Amino acid sequence: MANNRTLTMIKPDAIEQGNTGAIIQKITNSGFKIIALKLTKLTTEQAAEFYGIHKGKKFYDELIDFMISGPIIAAILEKKNAVDDFRALIGATVDPAEGTIRNLFASSVTQNAVHGSDSDENANIECAFHFNENEIIDY
Ligand code: UDP
Repeated sequence: MANNRTLTMIKPDAIEQGNTGAIIQKITNSGFKIIALKLTKLTTEQAAEFYGIHKGKKFYDELIDFMISGPIIAAILEKKNAVDDFRALIGATVDPAEGTIRNLFASSVTQNAVHGSDSDENANIECAFHFNENEIIDY
C-alpha cells in the first residue's frame, strides 16, 4: 500500500496568507483522500530533522527559519500513485507549471506553500514523522 500514500505539509506562508482552504479544496478535488490531518508548529530540531538531507546547502538556514516561522498543517493523503500524482499537482520546486498549487500560491522558491513527499520510501518516513498509527483513519 506504500504507493497509495503521500505526506503533505501546508507551509507557514500559505496559512499566513489565508490559502489553507483553497489548497485543501484543490487537493480533495484532485481525488486525494485525507486520512490524517493536524495543525502543528515545528521546533527548530524537528525542522532540522525533517530537512536533514539539505543541511549545508545555501538555502538551508532560510528554509529552517521559514518552516518554524508559523504553524504548518500536516496531512497524509491517499490515492493510487499518490506520490507522483501529488508532485504533479503541487508543481516543481523551481518554475512550477501553470495551475499547480505552487504556481498559484508560492511566494518564492523557499516560501512555496506546500510540501509533497518525493518517493514512496520518503512518504513512509515522513508519514511516521508526523503521525502515530492511531492518528491515521481508515474510512
Ligand atoms: N528550497 C529553497 N531553495 C532551493 C531549493 C529548495 O529554498 O533552491 C526549499 C523549498 O521550500 C523546498 C524545500 O527547500 O520545498 C525542500 O527542497 P527540495 O529540493 O526537497 O524540494 P521539494 O521536494 O520540496 O520540491
